[in-house]
Amino acid sequence: MRDAGASKERPRIEAYDMDPETAKAAEEDKEAFSFNADVSRLMDIIINSLYTKKEVFIRELVSNASDALDKVRFISVQNPDYLGEHQDLEVRIDFDHEAKTISITDTGVGMTKAELIKNLGTVAKSGTTAFLEAMGKSDSMSMIGQFGVGFYSAFLVANKVEVTSKSNDDEQWIWTSTADAKFFVAKDPRGDTLGRGSRITLYLKDDAAEFVEQERIKNLVKKYSEFINYPIKLYLSKDVRKEVEVEEEEPKKEEKKEGEEDADADAEKKADDAEVTDEEEKDKADETPKEKKMKTITETEWEWETINDIKAIWMREKADISDREYNEFYKTITKDTNEPLAHTHFSAEGEIEFKSILYMPGESPADLFENYYGASSSLKLYVRRVLITEEFEELMPRYLNFIKGVVDSDDLPLNVSRESL
Ligand code: ADP
Repeated sequence: MRDAGASKERPRIEAYDMDPETAKAAEEDKEAFSFNADVSRLMDIIINSLYTKKEVFIRELVSNASDALDKVRFISVQNPDYLGEHQDLEVRIDFDHEAKTISITDTGVGMTKAELIKNLGTVAKSGTTAFLEAMGKSDSMSMIGQFGVGFYSAFLVANKVEVTSKSNDDEQWIWTSTADAKFFVAKDPRGDTLGRGSRITLYLKDDAAEFVEQERIKNLVKKYSEFINYPIKLYLSKDVRKEVEVEEEEPKKEEKKEGEEDADADAEKKADDAEVTDEEEKDKADETPKEKKMKTITETEWEWETINDIKAIWMREKADISDREYNEFYKTITKDTNEPLAHTHFSAEGEIEFKSILYMPGESPADLFENYYGASSSLKLYVRRVLITEEFEELMPRYLNFIKGVVDSDDLPLNVSRESL
């Protein structure tokens, strides 16, 4: 069903929306860079892919936002001044039906100019390198979903991507690319509007226009970000029916089509004049007090609606968690598309207290023995819901490195050392 509110023009968001003059100034001031060869290859594959599950871009971008927020939470525990005026840690998603854009904004760490160039211009992540290698051997597009190509998945649905970012260590910068081997960076002519964090705007391809339908986005975000530990807010329009008092009889006006306005303006003015005289005469004739008449009108209201439940799954009662939820959580933390074989959810009490959910993957990882001594455990270590590290060698015996999961302790210090662990 098409949402009636979806096609409504959304009100301007001051901190986010750029006016044409600003866009022009940024355009004139931009500096060009070339993607590193791996990125270019990756982009070619993504852009030419006939991959059908393009929707994974939501998962990738929301997960990047969540990572950036994890970093803020981690830094701010030891340095509360880091948060400054921007205390809210959250992800906001809005779309513009007219411009065919969808934007994902976070109040995470943001990126300096140098970080924008490095992080979004080169491939650092081993997963992507593995993806490129696998692509050499097979041309199956299902690979994209399996590996998760991170930020670049934006180009599955967009022909232009714009990243506005503000780090505490720099001014606000705008990174743009249309995926043709180059990207551009310009200082934001508006100065600092984000405070701290990043805003990724996707200019959707014609065949991806479905992603500006608000019900579609709402369902996708719900599906992919069920276990994100920060509020995810969607800017949604709602049609609200209201009872209002009818002051005077209003003659019904036909809705006009675009373009007819000018030609009709004069005629309308005459009609309005006529209205006034009509009513004056009516008032004279009818001296008795008027009865209050009510009518129902439909108004569009816009608001940021939080659509996820941010309570960490491992803090919940076992009895209240369904198998589906356990399995989906597994997929969220591992990016595996298969169901896990088994899981265990337990809390340890005593000298040190912690809660944990561990999973046995459904299939053995392809590189199980390849990097036996190099690979660290695949457990995420949290201290009081703050993600501390995903690479703690001593958390699991090496031969159990294929076990995935989370461990959250309430009484470890946040700057926990290997020794104390
Ligand atoms: P990955 O997230 O697996 O490292 P990506 O290609 O998705 O790979 O992102 C590359 C890098 O860009 C990230 O490691 C991170 O440093 C940076 N990055 C991406 N999105 C954001 C964001 N929303 N806020 C801050 N940094 C980001």
